[in-house]
Amino acid sequence: MNLIILGPPGAGKGTQCERLVETFGLVQLSTGDMLRAEVASGSELGKKAKILIDAGNLVPDDLIIAMISSQIDRPSTENGFILDGFPRTTAQANALHEMLSEKSLKIDHVIQLAVDEEIIVSRLSGRFSCAKCHAGYHDIFKKPNKDGICDKCGAQEFLRRSDDKPETVRSRLRAYREQTAPILPFYDEKGVLKVVDGMSSMEDVYNTVREIILNG
Ligand code: AMP
Repeated sequence: MNLIILGPPGAGKGTQCERLVETFGLVQLSTGDMLRAEVASGSELGKKAKILIDAGNLVPDDLIIAMISSQIDRPSTENGFILDGFPRTTAQANALHEMLSEKSLKIDHVIQLAVDEEIIVSRLSGRFSCAKCHAGYHDIFKKPNKDGICDKCGAQEFLRRSDDKPETVRSRLRAYREQTAPILPFYDEKGVLKVVDGMSSMEDVYNTVREIILNG
């Protein structure tokens, strides 16, 4: 089972992926996480990417396509994978299609999380994650059970993303509207696009996605 999860920043893609990974044993391939790891490592790619990420712009297609191709080839994806944050442009969608055909693989479902852009900025400005295990939290919607302590691993350090500032979020939303939304018809024509209301509770969204995976 191979999935793509699509939606503007703040739609809840990462949170849903966490649950799907746990339940279905899929591997999450998040180009955003891969880029943040490059930034943290101080690599040349990371240095270039940081400037674009902090401005809310997309990283060039050729870099992203090379990065994801090597990940799909890894044996850990045997059970299937969820692409989170990829593809984000028509060129990436076409490259993915070719890449998968060559490997005799296919995408079973493309889940589009539809959200109201107006509330995205507040959703994003409140989010943070555990510095150690990366579990996701939110100041209002998902606080740790004990203030300042990660529910999952007990760590006491948390991180906020530098690109969750309101002005950067607005650029990211524009990039989604102009460069990513145009790929939706491509998947609709193939009959694999499923639109899910991303404004419902995390639990309701998860149950809908689960139902799609189990029953198509
Ligand atoms: P995300 O964590 O998916 O919101 O990604 C954070 C940032 O990484 C984006 O705003 C882009 O700058 C960059 N990025 C992530 N995935 C891609 C992609 N598939 N294509 C281009 N840039 C990307």
